[in-house]
Amino acid sequence: MNNETKKKIRLFVSSPLREGTELLLPEASSHYLCNVMRLQNGQTISCFNAVDGEFDCHIENIHKKQCRIKVEKKIRSPQPETDLWLLFAPVKKEQTDFIIEKATELGVSKIIPVITARTIVGSVRTERFAARAVEAAEQCGRISIPQIGAPLRLEEALNEWDSKRLLFFMDEKGNGVSCREAFGKAQSLSAAVLTGPEGGFSEEEANILYRKPFVRGVSLGPRILRAETAVVAALSVWQAVAGDWNPDEGEKK
Ligand code: SAH
Repeated sequence: MNNETKKKIRLFVSSPLREGTELLLPEASSHYLCNVMRLQNGQTISCFNAVDGEFDCHIENIHKKQCRIKVEKKIRSPQPETDLWLLFAPVKKEQTDFIIEKATELGVSKIIPVITARTIVGSVRTERFAARAVEAAEQCGRISIPQIGAPLRLEEALNEWDSKRLLFFMDEKGNGVSCREAFGKAQSLSAAVLTGPEGGFSEEEANILYRKPFVRGVSLGPRILRAETAVVAALSVWQAVAGDWNPDEGEKK
């Protein structure tokens, strides 16, 4: 990434992006560019989506309600994300926002809130999650936005699970294998990481999980981590051991 690219504002645009075409941005994005970032006509931003890639876009007419841009040069093609999902038990609002942001930065392709026996949170606001994911993708240089799944009860998620995808269950009781070992064996497979709520998983839930052939229990070391720390730790180790933090090693295989 050169300095020019770093400084440019990145905006997720859901409508098709084609070189040479003009586009009217929705009110929220127009407000952001006009009132928050104070951009002016003639400036360049970059717009992206997972289907078309990323483009330099020229601001033709800026207005707080509707901003018109011209799509110019394509600067990046769409890139597939690591096939890694996160299933997490929602916690308090700020910590949940943090989880969505960090999971996006750490490259997950889908995020599913799961309601477990000890999940305390009342309503799960997936529209809020989606907005957080878009903001995080804009900041971190991702081209795709993680998909946000509808909230599921843990047993529903397990009943409808595609058994070809491994489900790594973060077990705070220490009965799982070390994360490096577990993830190392799963390179190039579809996978998901499951983390629990502040109160942890119930014994019954742990028993049900361990009986599923697609579940692998994983330990994140000798200390009990907070739910949001466990998400970051698990996804980071996954990316380092089995994901896209070591592209060269992947190619050697
Ligand atoms: N209150 C529980 C801890 C819950 S921590 C207790 O005291 O036992 C919240 C979640 O983070 C857990 O459900 C688990 O998914 C994950 N987690 C925390 N520390 C972990 C560890 N050392 N190994 C694996 N998972 C861990």
